[in-house]
Amino acid sequence: MDPNQLYDVLIVGGGNAALCAAITARQAGASVIVLEAAPKHFRGGNSRHTRNFRCMHDAPADVLTDSYGENEYWEDLLKVTAGHTDEKLARMVIRQTSECRPWMRAHGARFQPSLGGTLHLSRTNAFFLGGGKALLNGYYRAAERMGIEIEYNAEVNELNFRDGRFHSAVVVRKGFTEVVRAKTLVAAAGGFQANIEWLRSAWGEAANNFLIRGTPYDNGHILRLLMNQGARTVSDPTQCHCVAIDARAPRFDGGIITRVDCVSLGITVNQHAQRFYDEGEDFWPKRYAIWGRLVAQQPGQIAYTIIDSQAMGGFMPPVFPPIQARSLRELADALKLDPQALERTVAEYNAAVRPGKFDHAILDNCSTEDLQPAKSHWALRIERPPYYAYPLRPGITFTYLGVAVNERAEVCFEENRKLDNVFAAGEIMAGNILGKGYLAGLGMAIGTVFGRIAGEEAARRAHA
Ligand SMILES: Cc1cc2nc3c(=O)[nH]c(=O)nc-3n(C[C@H](O)[C@H](O)[C@H](O)COP(=O)(O)OP(=O)(O)OC[C@H]3O[C@@H](n4cnc5c(N)ncnc54)[C@H](O)[C@@H]3O)c2cc1C
Repeated sequence: MDPNQLYDVLIVGGGNAALCAAITARQAGASVIVLEAAPKHFRGGNSRHTRNFRCMHDAPADVLTDSYGENEYWEDLLKVTAGHTDEKLARMVIRQTSECRPWMRAHGARFQPSLGGTLHLSRTNAFFLGGGKALLNGYYRAAERMGIEIEYNAEVNELNFRDGRFHSAVVVRKGFTEVVRAKTLVAAAGGFQANIEWLRSAWGEAANNFLIRGTPYDNGHILRLLMNQGARTVSDPTQCHCVAIDARAPRFDGGIITRVDCVSLGITVNQHAQRFYDEGEDFWPKRYAIWGRLVAQQPGQIAYTIIDSQAMGGFMPPVFPPIQARSLRELADALKLDPQALERTVAEYNAAVRPGKFDHAILDNCSTEDLQPAKSHWALRIERPPYYAYPLRPGITFTYLGVAVNERAEVCFEENRKLDNVFAAGEIMAGNILGKGYLAGLGMAIGTVFGRIAGEEAARRAHA
């Protein structure tokens, strides 16, 4: 990091969006510096936890089966967001995902056929060989080869603006404060999910029981600095991607292995041993991201998913072993639930199950009748011991409150004020497309498409 140099492009962040922006800007001839708050072994933010990328394609293509066209992708997005999306930006992302894979491959990405189990996504999602960590390692190697400057342990804690434009950033690195000047800024510093205070201001005391699935470095500081400059915001602070994860997971960075994938196979009860939502409403890939929110709304922000021996082996096992018991009473004792209440809930559920042909790969005809809430599919009686339970807590993946951007990834400011050298990509602007809800693989799709646009536009502006 050279304090005397005026860089063309300064990128704040070190995840997928940041690296896509950095590589693209460098390809366009810009001098680029990446400032990553994390130490080198922790680089890559939430992106290093990922597995796949949702991708439009018109015919089978390498690891992707069948086809997944623009309109189907758009309809899927519309359904999960209930219209809280910017159609123009969303369709732009969808279309551009079809062109991303060759570019990704050229910079170190490798793909593999999708994994089986409850998140079977071979038609819609391209899986990274070695996961997000391998993808990010590939991108970092490419960035180094291209002469992009990368600073680790470099937390940006101030953004200076002069004459209505970005001027420089104040960086704390290894305890020292330095100023880095650049012609343009790309903000790719993630959401604010690791900032429990900020989550608490939106969710109240419930946030004390939230677990953060990803990096502790995404604390929203850059988002706050842009908001303080008058950046327009999208979505609201309660909206986030939030899945049900094992309550025994660590507070931060537990990653993918703490997710509990058997909710659709059993029943899920709260601490009063009562069910609270239809566990079989739709395919698990379309529903897994609502369960964290549902658990967040329960007393004490805790729930328990309960299955019997029939369901074992039918889902991706999480890292924590299930709590096992020979009877429901014994299970209730182990979970500190009222045994009578749990037995009653299971008995009512079992009595409401109508016979059908169980098939977890389709929306089958195994459902309940006259039960509130219903279980619409995959309803089998819970009657074959041993019984198993996984305790669940809300696992926050990333928050949606972000800066508004246009199709050039320029950050939009209040009163149409123009700061013509500030761009954003990734979680920090994902709320433009994801106002609520989630589709598996969309985080990386948004970050890759907008990262590349931000890099290209920032380089162009720097050279103008
Ligand atoms: C467990 C898990 C699994 C996931 N699986 C998938 C998946 O399979 N597919 C998918 O599409 N999405 C997935 N996601 C979501 C996905 O990770 C994000 O949408 C995407 O990675 C966001 O990329 P990003 O570059 O915006 O943010 P990040 O990758 O989080 O990068 C942000 C970076 O900014 C840095 N930073 C923050 N503040 C500062 C600062 N002040 N100064 C300097 N640097 C700063 C951080 O250290 C970090 O490196 C998953 C997330 C998690 C947690």
